[in-house]
Parts: sequence; structure tokens; C-alpha cells
Amino acid sequence: MKITGIELRRIAMPLVTPFRTSFGVETERDVLLVRVVTPDAEGWAECVAMSEPLYSPEYVDGAADVLRRFLIPALPACPDVHAVGRALRPFKGHRMAKAALETAVLDARLRVAGQSLAAFLGADADRVPCGVSVGIMGSVPDLLDAVEGYVAEGYRRVKLKIEPGWDLAPVRAVRERFGEDLLLQVDANAAYTLADASHLARLDAYGLLLIEQPLAHDDMVQHARLATRITTPICLDESIESAEHAAAAIGLGACSVINVKPGRVGGYLESRRIHDLARASGLAVWCGGMLETGIGRAANLALAALPGFTLPGDTSGSHRYYATDITPPFVLQDGHLPVPTGPGIGVDPVADVLDAVTVSTEWITV
Ligand SMILES: [Mg+2]
Repeated sequence: MKITGIELRRIAMPLVTPFRTSFGVETERDVLLVRVVTPDAEGWAECVAMSEPLYSPEYVDGAADVLRRFLIPALPACPDVHAVGRALRPFKGHRMAKAALETAVLDARLRVAGQSLAAFLGADADRVPCGVSVGIMGSVPDLLDAVEGYVAEGYRRVKLKIEPGWDLAPVRAVRERFGEDLLLQVDANAAYTLADASHLARLDAYGLLLIEQPLAHDDMVQHARLATRITTPICLDESIESAEHAAAAIGLGACSVINVKPGRVGGYLESRRIHDLARASGLAVWCGGMLETGIGRAANLALAALPGFTLPGDTSGSHRYYATDITPPFVLQDGHLPVPTGPGIGVDPVADVLDAVTVSTEWITV
């Protein structure tokens, strides 16, 4: 499969509502799309880096720069699936940029082969249960209204973003209003320190599925210490950037659940390695989200269909974030989304919708 060229396309996607986490507020998603062109097929992928380096060191302009300056020039002329990762390995970090490039090449190859990404990864579920991530709100009544809407839509699990000052009260209110049967978890995006352990232990009373990334991304030992002081299972997100990190976290007892985000760990092949490792170690994994458009969402659904993804992920319906998605929208059915079955990621952008949100395109001949 000879690559003719690669397009880097920036799109601006307005969010239906501002999304607030412990590290900031987003009102519009600045997305970098990668399109790999070959004589026989095109492959698409979405880089999940955000506009600013607040979730991780990566940001969209930086991802575009490293792609055009280093990663794309390093691609072999006719890369097989594993050759992309090997070619990019000498460059440190930049996992979201690497993931986008590897995924676009993989998509093109699978389209030529007529195989779906889900089948390639070894998934056999035809639908996956969906959770929703609810941002930090201005008030508890606003939060309860938002959660009520998502529960009515059929979401199988609710995740509340928390930070110091917005933790016990919103969790208590949601528990009291929606009862013990609601699958509920929280995500701190690294907003606490080990000094908060006794405060975080007060969340144990609310029967949470897990607390996600309570401490800093490089505090794996501290997470292991926290795990001895709270009963709520600890899930790591930002701390896990590779299968090696996952092995270290499991060995240390730093977590009992892992949130797998393909962009954060450098792609779907690495995501599958983490899945396999966690499964062999008896840990649950679930698929996180980075406010993806339909391009990234489609690929995440393929991953979430693997058997070790035993908890509902943040693979929400398109309308959770976007009034008009760039692909045909993913619509929740009985709390689930269907796993795409077409070749590759199984979806294509809608040309006129894509053009309407495009800010810039850049063509790189390979
Ligand atoms: Mg998270």
C-alpha cells in the first residue's frame, strides 16, 4: 500500500454546552484530522490533542507541527500495520499525534482489505453500553437537571467531574436523587494530593464504581498509598501512557481499573496491549473519551467491543457534544451504540458538513 500523500485538516466544532473539568472549560473543540491517501483507499483518523496543554503536554498546534516536521517524513513508503509504530518510536512522546497517524494508515489498510477495525482488533460485540461524562456545573440543581436528562436518554453509567469544592455535595445529591442502582463514578483529572486522602475517603459512602485519576499523573506511588486509605476503586487515566506504565501501575497496586484512551497511549495497537495485560491481571478497563467527533468515536467503539472492556465507557452519542457531527450521528439505542461493521473505522465524513467546519487544510506529499 503506497501512500500518495497525507492531509492535515483543522476543524472547529462548537460544543452543545461548555464542558468544564478541573483543568479548564471548553466551548469549542479544535480538532486535527489526518487523512492518508493511497491509490486504493483513504484512511481517516482524529488527533485528540486539545487546544492547550492542560490535560497532557500535547496540544493541537504542537501535534500538527510534529506530524509535518518529523512523523510523516519518517513513514516508510509502504507501511504495514506494525511498521508505523516502529518508524515513529525514536521520537519521544507525542503519542496523540502518533496515534492519529498510525490509525489513519491502519484505516486505509483495513479499507483495502475489507476488514473492520473491530474485527482486526479481535472484538466481537456488536454494540457497547455507553456512559456519559458530566462536567462541573454552576450549581447542584443544574447538575441534577443535566443528569436527569442523560438518564432519560438511557445512558448506562454517569461520571461526574470533580475538583476540590465540587465533590461530596454533588455526589451525595446525585446518589440521593437517582438511587443506589445508578452506576456512578467520578473523575478528578489529577486535582487532589495525598493530603486529601481522608477527604476522598468520605466518597466511599456513596458506592462509586471508581474514582478516576485523583492525584497527579506522575504520582503512581502516591496512588498506591491512596489505594490503602480509601475503598473506592482507583482508576488511572492520565498516568497510563503505555503498556509499560500499565504494568508498573498494576505491579505497584496503584489502580484496580484503567481508562484506556487510544490517543493518550499512542494508538489502537497499544490500547489492545493494555487491554490484554489488564485482562490477564484481572483488572477491568473501559474506553475513555476526548470529546471525539464521529471519526474518533467510531474507532473507540471498535476498541470498546473487546471482551476486557467490562465497564461502560465515555463513548457517548454524537449529540452529547455536537449538534451536527461530521459523520452520520451515533445515536444511543437502549443505552448502547452499535459497533461499526464496515471496512476500517466504518464511517466517512459527510463532505459538506466537513467543509463547513474546516478552518484549514494542508497537503503533504509523501
Ligand atoms: Mg479522565
